[in-house]
Amino acid sequence: MKEQYHTLRLILGDQLNIHHSWYEKNDDSCLYLIAELPQEVGYVRHHIQKICAFFAAMEQFAGELKKKKHAVLHMNLDDTAGYHDLSDLLQHLVKKYAVREFQFQQPDEYRLKEQLSAIAFDKSVTVTIFDSEHFLLPCAEISQMFPLGKPGRMEHFYRKMRKRFDILMNKEKPEGGRWNFDGENRHKLKPGDHIRIPEPLLFRNSVGNILRRVEQHNVRTFGRAEECLLWPVSRQQSLRLLKDFCLNALPLFGKYQDAMTEKSPYRWSLFHSRLSFSLNSKMLHPMEVMTVAIKYWKENPRKVSMAQIEGFVRQILGWREYVRGVYWSNMPGYKSMNALQGHYSLPEFFWDGNTRMNCMKQTIDQSLKYAYAHHIQRLMVTGNFCLLAGIDPDQVDQWYLGIYLDGIEWAELPNTRGMSQFADGGIVASKPYAASGNYINKMSDYCKNCYYRVKEKTSDDACPLNSMYWHFMVRHRSILEKNPRTALVFKGWDKRAGKEKTEILQKGERSIRHRDDL
Ligand code: FAD
Ligand code: SF4
Repeated sequence: MKEQYHTLRLILGDQLNIHHSWYEKNDDSCLYLIAELPQEVGYVRHHIQKICAFFAAMEQFAGELKKKKHAVLHMNLDDTAGYHDLSDLLQHLVKKYAVREFQFQQPDEYRLKEQLSAIAFDKSVTVTIFDSEHFLLPCAEISQMFPLGKPGRMEHFYRKMRKRFDILMNKEKPEGGRWNFDGENRHKLKPGDHIRIPEPLLFRNSVGNILRRVEQHNVRTFGRAEECLLWPVSRQQSLRLLKDFCLNALPLFGKYQDAMTEKSPYRWSLFHSRLSFSLNSKMLHPMEVMTVAIKYWKENPRKVSMAQIEGFVRQILGWREYVRGVYWSNMPGYKSMNALQGHYSLPEFFWDGNTRMNCMKQTIDQSLKYAYAHHIQRLMVTGNFCLLAGIDPDQVDQWYLGIYLDGIEWAELPNTRGMSQFADGGIVASKPYAASGNYINKMSDYCKNCYYRVKEKTSDDACPLNSMYWHFMVRHRSILEKNPRTALVFKGWDKRAGKEKTEILQKGERSIRHRDDL
């Protein structure tokens, strides 16, 4: 290390993009900073595996840069503990190394953007912001594509992106003759079908030192972690995971995307890619992920159908880019939206999985074990419960942001507050994703092994979701009956006998009030 550097470049934990133009040339007057920060482990209570994955990936990345002969200052929690926050650390380093220019890549989270923009360096220090060179939709187009507060449907956006990037297109027409194969992608895993669920590719990354640092610095975490982390923490491992996904899971990815089961040892991963951490930390680029998957589909047309590849591309080119657009065009107000006035606290069992509701137990247990649940578990199990119970969206956000390895606010917030909790009043979703036990019974085998009975509504052991669903619909009737997608539900409700309606609503009320005992 030298005593002086002209330029200090900050690399945040989710900016591990080795192909960024920053690294094309070596410049020995430039110092790269990559730091484990107390503020980043403390802004929410994180799953321990999430902290391990980020810290291990940062360490790997620092090593990669050093191998490429860049000057890197990699600081761990021991080194940064004495600084008040990131701003304080940067001020210190700028002085220490007589830095003339401070550079950073545009952060993906609003709080970090605000913090970095607010740092007042000495006047002689120039500050330059770079693009992170990760997302496909340029930052500058977000406000025009996503007008503030206006609903803009994902499907519309997705088609534009398909055309613009010429992905799965046949000249002006969508490949396969349709934009969307969603209708073919909602299958349940039926025991008689004897579907082989692939064994997930797991890694064994040693994180003992990180665990000890986290403990020494009294970082508040939850969930479980072993000395070996199973998640990919380098670009090489991420590429192996991508390849493994194409070979083993892509062939049935779309078909069983919404399915849930407790019957397989691999029930937690099913046919999902588990690439969200590699993508969100930027070890992988979304275009390369799609290109690899599309190439595999083209070379294996008998193994991978159009519906599978389209389903996968839609998640990355569509949903992922879309939620980022919604986030940036609606922040900071989005973070405090509460259209349905949720105000109850999150039940204790969200932190330990101790509930008799089997769907919730399965989803929460695996989230605590792996820091992972797939989309439908997040949306239609835990998310649906919070929606029906009227939980305060701040608490719901905190839980989702902390528990999942891929929890970064730009992706978490529109999915949780928007899609799952309808707290944005319909910017993301055209109707609330509210469901009774019937949906879970249709898409999983959870109900067979549950203390509660999914067909019952008011008995002592009736599935709590059934009465909570009606309680939710009726308490938000004034909003939902104006919505053409939910209005019809009330026709059926109104035909029921008064006594039956009262009993269902009373049961729903009891379940919500005594949610800790479910
Ligand atoms: P796959 O099912 O294999 O999908 C492939 C990829 O598509 C994912 O890796 C992801 O990058 C992308 N993707 C799919 N759906 C979405 C989506 N709705 N939004 C953004 N990207 C998507 N995703 C996050 O990355 N971070 C979060 O904090 C997050 N929080 C969520 C909270 C809730 C309440 C819900 C309903 C969804 C959330 N998601 C979040 C979206 C989605 O559930 C995860 O991206 C996905 O489960 C990650 O697993 P996977 O990599 O196996 O995904
Ligand atoms: Fe969940 Fe109800 Fe089914 Fe039990 S019966 S698993 S609570 S949906």
